[in-house]
Amino acid sequence: MCPKEKTENKRKGGKNVYGMEPAELKSLFVSWGKPAYRGDQVFRWLYQKKAASFEEMTDIPGELAGKLNETLGIQSLVCLKKLRSGDGARKFLFGLEDGRRIETVFIPEAGRRTVCVSTQVGCKIGCPFCVSGSGGFIRQLTTHEIVTQVLEAARLTGEEISNIVFMGIGEPLDNTVHVLRAVRILNHPLGMKIGARRITISTCGLIPGIETLRDFDLQVKLSVSLHAVKNDLRDGLVPVNRTYPLEKLMAALEDYDRTKGRLVTLEYALISGINDSDADASRLAGLAGKIKAKVNLIPCNPGMGDAFRAPSGNRTYSFKRILEDRKITVTRRNTKGRDILAACGQLVFDREPEAAESNGKEK
Ligand code: SF4
Repeated sequence: MCPKEKTENKRKGGKNVYGMEPAELKSLFVSWGKPAYRGDQVFRWLYQKKAASFEEMTDIPGELAGKLNETLGIQSLVCLKKLRSGDGARKFLFGLEDGRRIETVFIPEAGRRTVCVSTQVGCKIGCPFCVSGSGGFIRQLTTHEIVTQVLEAARLTGEEISNIVFMGIGEPLDNTVHVLRAVRILNHPLGMKIGARRITISTCGLIPGIETLRDFDLQVKLSVSLHAVKNDLRDGLVPVNRTYPLEKLMAALEDYDRTKGRLVTLEYALISGINDSDADASRLAGLAGKIKAKVNLIPCNPGMGDAFRAPSGNRTYSFKRILEDRKITVTRRNTKGRDILAACGQLVFDREPEAAESNGKEK
């Protein structure tokens, strides 16, 4: 079990402080006739010293700590289970205020400590190779439920988080209000200071969300799960393609690149016999070249049945070579955490803690 044993996660007080930006905290103090800098102090305590109560904030007078307690909640996620992979990745099963559960992954690599966060309980998109979306959509995660996944990952691992990828359960650009607000909080110089360029938002191709991100003032990275280069195949693999087909998606990405000046990454899950032919590689090179995108090849992870298997090493190599020969920057993503079902498309919501325990070693 995690240090905090399985408990009810009922929020005390009103609005949760973990969903608030420094400006809002300052306004709160000003509305009480107190100096605005108190807001910055509270924010620092939350994210730099990782205080779990207002009483721990020793430079906040007791009278103000009491007022904060009456006005705000300071409730983080409850860790129900943690698992450690043989490759060092760690997965956390977190309980939410309404009893729902989500998963978050910590990925240590040379020079970086990444947290892969979830943004929804379930997902509306329903990609057939993804376990995360197989149970349908329950609800959006709120700002504080997103922020505290990163905070708790830092607390539970004792590591300083350097990177965030929005690639857990859910479609981040279907929840832009809370996701972008969480990005501001996590990026803030008084808090965890995670650089915008070290934050990646991954989408299956929701064009309205891509436009919102284009107009967002922070220079976060955009990654698009393409997975197919023809509409008929993509309609099945990434069903949102029926609403936003490839030609419209590529035009939106061109516009994004032109307006924001940020290169896009195209994620491509290689699935044996489905999207891994030489012709697919060639078309993918054409699409990537048009928008100067980098390509990330992800050998399909064990997930939804036998239909979705990774190609052989030789096939993956040949596919990659075709892209390289066309001068496309391409990487083969090293998937971490497969043995604890923490890799892409393997995270689930509402998993029973007992079931989670059976998938890996508890630490
Ligand atoms: S791959 Fe992403 S968008 Fe598709 S069902 Fe899974 S979580 Fe949703």
